[in-house]
Amino acid sequence: MKILISGASIAGPTLGYWLTEYGFDVEIVERSSEVRGGGYPIDLRGSAMDVAERMGMTASLRDAHLDIRKLTLVDRDGETILAVNPEQFSGGTQGHDVEVPRGDLARLLYERTRDRCAYRFNDYVTALDDRGDSVDVEFKSGRRERYDYVLGADGLHSATRGFIFGPEDPFIRHLGYFFVGFTMPNVFGMAREQRVFSTAGRMAGISSVRSDDRVTALLTMALDEMPVAAERNADVQRDRFKALFGQDGWHIPQLLEGLDRGDDLYFDTVSQIRMPGWSKGRIALAGDAAHGPSFVTGQGSSLALAGAYVLAGELASHAGDPAAAFASYEREFRPFAEANQNIAGKRWQFIPDDAETERMRNEHLRANGLPAASGEAKRAIHTALKIKDYHADS
Ligand SMILES: Cc1cc2nc3c(=O)[nH]c(=O)nc-3n(C[C@H](O)[C@H](O)[C@H](O)COP(=O)(O)OP(=O)(O)OC[C@H]3O[C@@H](n4cnc5c(N)ncnc54)[C@H](O)[C@@H]3O)c2cc1C
Repeated sequence: MKILISGASIAGPTLGYWLTEYGFDVEIVERSSEVRGGGYPIDLRGSAMDVAERMGMTASLRDAHLDIRKLTLVDRDGETILAVNPEQFSGGTQGHDVEVPRGDLARLLYERTRDRCAYRFNDYVTALDDRGDSVDVEFKSGRRERYDYVLGADGLHSATRGFIFGPEDPFIRHLGYFFVGFTMPNVFGMAREQRVFSTAGRMAGISSVRSDDRVTALLTMALDEMPVAAERNADVQRDRFKALFGQDGWHIPQLLEGLDRGDDLYFDTVSQIRMPGWSKGRIALAGDAAHGPSFVTGQGSSLALAGAYVLAGELASHAGDPAAAFASYEREFRPFAEANQNIAGKRWQFIPDDAETERMRNEHLRANGLPAASGEAKRAIHTALKIKDYHADS
């Protein structure tokens, strides 16, 4: 059976790995000219690490692990509110979970699958016709092919989702923030640490990545309205961040310089995808396209990896029956995906709504530190998916 996957980031190559493991023929089409690097460090935790282990990736992930030892939260004056081991906050498990640069994870997954999947870069789907027993696909390049299944792993703004379910508006839940991530020179002298500036309406994070000469930076602002497409233009957004952060001290002037010079800027809204169903006919969605949780949960890549594993496994178990395969995929994975999406809560503690909320939060954290229960509760959610052995089932 022949399967087309759209998107070669985290969910796409993971699907490719498992589907080829089960004997499917897999093609992966990626709009960019290569696997895209960049992005803020991401965590692989709990059940997702069990999937990575089954893919034989534990050693390379450990090598890429950033092993960040300290997270420092500072107030609007640059004064320390709290300095903790990040796992205390995130619910990660030292020695099991990893934090790696997003681009490194994408590259590792690509390397793991490049010999078993046919990758086609610089191309994308322009039309899909589900004929009931197969799907006819047209590509930008002019190619036309027929597949047994098409899987959309093309991210938050998934084009595959658009083909089968229409515009994203009913499915995208804006959490009220807009961000830009980029890398820049490590002018801060940081090593294995994260620093977060957090005040009403905005936050800035810096994370030292493995090579000590670069850091990744994240600027996030509260934004009530979703920016319209024209506003997603990089120059417009750069100016918006510069205007908002322009008067701030701490490391902000250097960060704004990094923003100006950055050539790997990644802008997006902090949004979730919530959909009543993840498939139609012979076409299904995986990763952010189906159930994007947003980075405030810290679970985007973990969900992408674990969900792709389940989707591939269910397809292998019900290869001739898409309705059964996709229903089973949702039954298995939806409760886990939604529980992880719910980690986001109503507000994000790194961006207080107003000065009073900020003052109370800072006072509380200075006096009491982080509640131990917050990391433990998250850990229970990260590990809730039991990884089935589809080899045995199929
Ligand atoms: C360059 C980059 C930087 C990122 N930085 C951050 C970050 O700083 N913080 C954060 O929380 N999340 C970031 N993300 C998103 C994060 O990777 C995902 O939340 C998560 O890992 C889930 O992965 P995914 O594979 O489902 O989707 P994504 O990682 O979003 O990957 C989607 C892939 O599909 C490709 N694609 C898009 N449209 C099409 C199309 N029409 N046809 C073919 N291919 C298409 C994209 O180029 C991309 O490679 C970033 C994603 C990318 C691509």
